[in-house]
Amino acid sequence: MNINNFKCPICFEVYGDIYLPCTLQCGHSFCLEHIKHISNCPLCKTKIKNFAEIKQNCILRDISKDYVRIYKDKYKEEYEEIIKQEQDVLISEETKKRKEILDLIETNISSYKTKINEIHKIITQINDANNNLLNKMNNFFIYDGNNTNTNTNINQDCENYNN
Ligand SMILES: [Zn+2]
Ligand SMILES: [Zn+2]
Repeated sequence: MNINNFKCPICFEVYGDIYLPCTLQCGHSFCLEHIKHISNCPLCKTKIKNFAEIKQNCILRDISKDYVRIYKDKYKEEYEEIIKQEQDVLISEETKKRKEILDLIETNISSYKTKINEIHKIITQINDANNNLLNKMNNFFIYDGNNTNTNTNINQDCENYNN
């Protein structure tokens, strides 16, 4: 015996007081809620001729309730297994999303690094330009010093001349 024998083939709920089983003229059973909304049997496509003749299947309902009661633990296990499978799917989905976030962070870090390297290159160029300017200024001052020397020489020459 399998719990699936006691489930509505449409909603997969186990028959009982809440999901009352009804049997069509073709012999297939579904829960009462679903029979209200169909015109053909979903399993064999036989047209439902007379809704008034569809009766609640009390035997199926009671056997189903007995099964659930006797195999309560087994039923619980099966139910837990279904829940666990659903959770596993969700957990792996969550793990995937977390990994995607990490990948995004990793990608952003490497583009930050590229930008920082570009900034470092520019700073190096600015420093080089400053150093070049400093060197030029130093050369100018040295030249200016020579000029002073030259002036002194000229002055000296004048003095010498005057003397
Ligand atoms: Zn159903
Ligand atoms: Zn049928």
